[in-house]
Amino acid sequence: MSPDPALAEPLEVVERIRKVAGEKAALHEPEIGGNAWAYVKDCLDTGWVSTVGAYVDRFEKMLCEITGARHAIATVNGTAALHIALVAAGVRPGDEVITPSLTFVATCNALAYCGASPHFIDIEETTLGIDPAKLAARLDEAAILTPEGLVNRETGRPIRAVVPMHCFGHSVDLDPLLAVCAEWGLVLVEDAAESLGSFYKGRHTGTFGLLGTLSFNGNKVVTTGGGGAILTGDPEVAKRVKHLTTTAKQPHAWAFVHDEVGYNYRLPNINAALGCAQLELLSDFVARKRRVNRAYGEAFADLDGVRLMGEQPFCTSNFWLNALVLTAGGRTARDEVLAAANQAGLTTRPAWTPMHELRMFADAPRGDLAVTTWIADRLISLPSSSRLGGPAAA
Ligand SMILES: *Cc1c(COP(=O)(O)O)cnc(C)c1O
Repeated sequence: MSPDPALAEPLEVVERIRKVAGEKAALHEPEIGGNAWAYVKDCLDTGWVSTVGAYVDRFEKMLCEITGARHAIATVNGTAALHIALVAAGVRPGDEVITPSLTFVATCNALAYCGASPHFIDIEETTLGIDPAKLAARLDEAAILTPEGLVNRETGRPIRAVVPMHCFGHSVDLDPLLAVCAEWGLVLVEDAAESLGSFYKGRHTGTFGLLGTLSFNGNKVVTTGGGGAILTGDPEVAKRVKHLTTTAKQPHAWAFVHDEVGYNYRLPNINAALGCAQLELLSDFVARKRRVNRAYGEAFADLDGVRLMGEQPFCTSNFWLNALVLTAGGRTARDEVLAAANQAGLTTRPAWTPMHELRMFADAPRGDLAVTTWIADRLISLPSSSRLGGPAAA
């Protein structure tokens, strides 16, 4: 966080983006190719378009193969996946759940659906993900271990779980985070919405917690139009998740019996068909997205006042979105670059408004969020579509 006195010239930054992204570029475009048409047409031809069908099963199987998870349950979107993962993790009304403030609003919305409140912990500048050391320090200061579990001594509420988010595809530092969870009896649920194809020490993100969730929204590495998935290694949890996402219907040849309030969160077959075709292309997408990152690395190498987000030694990132941090000039410089780049047809975006600054979560408990606010003022997301990394492999 040592500020560089040299300020990046906005038009110079735009020029460097153009070198990689060309004259016009979206932030992240889907690339629909491979077997997409054939598989979707097959759904249309056979009439298997809805929540039952062979592509959903195949999609889940492919997710298991790719991530190494024992179980994958496909859902209508990543937010629904998070919602059910939190329910399955035992999050209840009145609970607090540890989460970063620098995340997409879905992470905190899903907590709110469970009647829980976020408890914000700062991020690391190197990963943009939750800082395990700051979490440990915060728990030492604010939490007490009771026979019923961990309690926030200031609010008196249970602290139930930790939901890290692998920001832009960069893995959080999971080993120290797992150690904190073990020490305090916290359940880990990973928001891996942005990190399909990203690995921590050789193991796929989203498979370290009791549960992990993925998103297949149109702007993610792989898309099903809209979609998500829950990963877990626990067969009982997998069963419960499947049950909750399919209206809690008891298996029966013809009767409708539901044993609790369930959800209609199952991914339709037509979306899964597109997803199967997309997953077949995942390794090519990731290879080309990593090439885009290398190209930005070269383009910005000799420019003062900026730092391109790279990957830590423990992470192999999918580089979902490339992020540039303006190390000088703060928010004013950031807004100048955003204005100039968007004006030039190169779509760039700031980070999300930190969750603790949103009205709904403004009263949530928190540790110090110095890095979160520092990064939020200086980060710019760059055009990062796989097509910018060259043509698809034949
Ligand atoms: C995309 C995303 C989600 C889920 O989004 P959906 O649009 O509901 O699929 C959740 N968390 C993060 C961090 C995301 O980027």
